[in-house]
Amino acid sequence: MPGAAIARPSKLEYAVLLALAARTRADCLGRRVGAVVIREDRVLSTGYNGTPIGMPNCSEGGCHRCASRDTGPYPVGGAYDLCVCVHAEQNAILAAARFGQSTLGGTLTTTLRPCFGCCKEALQAGIVAVRYLDEWEPAAGEQDPGLAVQYASLRARFAVFEAVTVDRTRLLAFLAAGAAPAAAG
Ligand SMILES: [Zn+2]
Ligand SMILES: [Zn+2]
Repeated sequence: MPGAAIARPSKLEYAVLLALAARTRADCLGRRVGAVVIREDRVLSTGYNGTPIGMPNCSEGGCHRCASRDTGPYPVGGAYDLCVCVHAEQNAILAAARFGQSTLGGTLTTTLRPCFGCCKEALQAGIVAVRYLDEWEPAAGEQDPGLAVQYASLRARFAVFEAVTVDRTRLLAFLAAGAAPAAAG
């Protein structure tokens, strides 16, 4: 049919697809996360979580905190100063810096709600909007009340900081359909 629109993802779905694609490369014994920074509808960078360049992977014992996540004394969502893994959001922002792309005014789309540290860094990098797929909560009783207040005040500084819902079956269909030519009319 001439003029028939080709079904394609929305801009939000596209960002989520990119974040999910980045997540496939994550190497961390904790939650695997992917992120993308977009500015003016253009992709600046992607990131996933794992140890810094040149260091053994988290899955190879490269991170002491992650390696002792089931046995160690470190609380969920805490002791990040002991964790050598770079978060997906940090990696996306740092990749932009590494290659000289300004993140000012950019949007961060990530597969998991950014932690306290990533919120600080995203804010300071000029990110104005944060959208994430999955919620994350510290284990009950393990969050310092002062930290919770600071975390909330950080999140409030973004013009947008929201969980998004996408139809994952629809996203998979877009990936599958991309291999086939558009239906001829
Ligand atoms: Zn790790
Ligand atoms: Zn983080």
